[in-house]
Amino acid sequence: MTAQATIIENNFPIVIVGTGFSGIAMAVMLQKAGIDSFTILEKAQDIGGTWRDNTYPGAACDVPSHLYSFSFEPKTDWSRAFSPQAEIKSYLDHCVDKYHIRQKIRFGCEVTGAEFEESTGTWTVSFKEKGRHKKLTARAFILGNGALSTPADPDIKGLKDFKGDMFHSARWNHDVDLTGKKVAVIGTGASAIQIIPELGKIVDKLEVFQRTAPWVLPKPDRNMSGIEKRLFSAVPSTRWLHRAYIYWRNEALATGFVVDPRLMKGLEFIGRNYLRYAVKDPILRAKLAPNFTIGCKRMLLSNSYYQTLVQPHVDVVTDGIESITEQGIKTRNGIEHKVDAIVLATGFMVTNYLSRLNIKGLQGADLNTAMTEQREHYLGITVSKFPNMFLMMGPNTGLGHNSMVFMIEAQARYVVKCIEALRDKQLTYMDVREEAQHEYTQDVQQRLQKSVWASGCQSWYLSEDGHNGAAWPGFTWQYWLATRRLDLKAYHQVYAPEYQTEVVNV
Ligand code: NAP
Repeated sequence: MTAQATIIENNFPIVIVGTGFSGIAMAVMLQKAGIDSFTILEKAQDIGGTWRDNTYPGAACDVPSHLYSFSFEPKTDWSRAFSPQAEIKSYLDHCVDKYHIRQKIRFGCEVTGAEFEESTGTWTVSFKEKGRHKKLTARAFILGNGALSTPADPDIKGLKDFKGDMFHSARWNHDVDLTGKKVAVIGTGASAIQIIPELGKIVDKLEVFQRTAPWVLPKPDRNMSGIEKRLFSAVPSTRWLHRAYIYWRNEALATGFVVDPRLMKGLEFIGRNYLRYAVKDPILRAKLAPNFTIGCKRMLLSNSYYQTLVQPHVDVVTDGIESITEQGIKTRNGIEHKVDAIVLATGFMVTNYLSRLNIKGLQGADLNTAMTEQREHYLGITVSKFPNMFLMMGPNTGLGHNSMVFMIEAQARYVVKCIEALRDKQLTYMDVREEAQHEYTQDVQQRLQKSVWASGCQSWYLSEDGHNGAAWPGFTWQYWLATRRLDLKAYHQVYAPEYQTEVVNV
């Protein structure tokens, strides 16, 4: 082992939070760079992040699997073009095992906060394990807990009054058999449109409470043939060509998302025709007609959503929810819709997803305040006054048109470069300069002004005051370019002799 590696082993503990795509990518990339001194803290007892938590019927990815997977771990035998949740979860299990990451994970550890100590350049990470408060010291602190991890219950009067079964789409209660029941689904987003067709097959009566009609396009899903699987396995270049084809096809959509939303008219044309084709009843069709630019909210793909809504035992309720009662849902027109169960497909706490963590940086700076008030960051990865801390799937890195796994890999590569710089230059810490993050954030916000998300709809990409702290306003290859090199000029590089002090974990 080299002297440098020894320093890493002894003096460079790294804490990663979460074992979703982000945490796993980070761990693998660190290992590939020869850095093995990391611990992953995972609040659950299993890996997988969103692909562990979202087990609702019909859960699948709306990005093709051959692209929604790691470039360093291709899978040749995806069962479908858009694979189901269980297959993606088992792919992640495979990655964790193949790269020997499982033994680096401490399960059942919920991170509650972290504090930076300037003199040693260390983070003290606080977490709860089996009800006990514990701490770990880290030279680098990497947050891989995604924004789509905390379910958002709707702010509806009487939510707690309901006497039947009620659960969020991301916390599906598999003990409840909904067969033959009367069921309400609140929400018509990406989760709901996957759940509704499955419920439609088994329930006696299904009521879909729609606040905003989404754009729905046909999903080019299909079984992957045996020939394709064998070809992808035997001739890797065909697999890469297929992946590249999906990537560039998706990437072309960015022209409408971020260059000129008027280009979305073509997709709207397809969406309107699809609605006309699938829904013949003009009253229902009027209810389902979206009234915002496609892409402003997430564009949905389904071959069975409209087809379920037209069935006689399914109703789309658009009267607006007034309250939840003991027996069901009361709408503003005074009607009480009595149901046995309510599914809350109402999304996630996105804009303030870091607020549950108490993270204190330099001079007592609070991360939650920084993210909700200053709202500045650099590449969605680093934040001034929070040195040696790195966000995965951080602010302004979300997409509407392509695979998040591509963004995650770009981020993980960048974080490895930062850690190598800390090591090779023997820095105590690196802290992004305020001017650099200000310039970067201004540029991102300016570009977002002409994006589809600024075309006038309400979505989880926007905070209450309309600030878009979620979406990346460009092509994904632009993000790749921006993160490809570490520009150390953007960082204060601080050296203190305490660097050589042994870090002891407690
Ligand atoms: P979402 O897109 O935020 O949708 C939430 C739905 O609940 C919306 O229809 C919303 O209506 C409705 N809603 C929220 N509060 C309500 C209230 N108080 N009363 C009535 N309706 C209410 O959440 P999601 O469907 O869980 O999807 C979130 C994100 O997860 C997606 O955008 C996507 O990024 C990801 N996702 C991905 C996949 C995939 O296949 N890769 C699948 C599922 C989810 P409004 O539209 O009026 O706000």
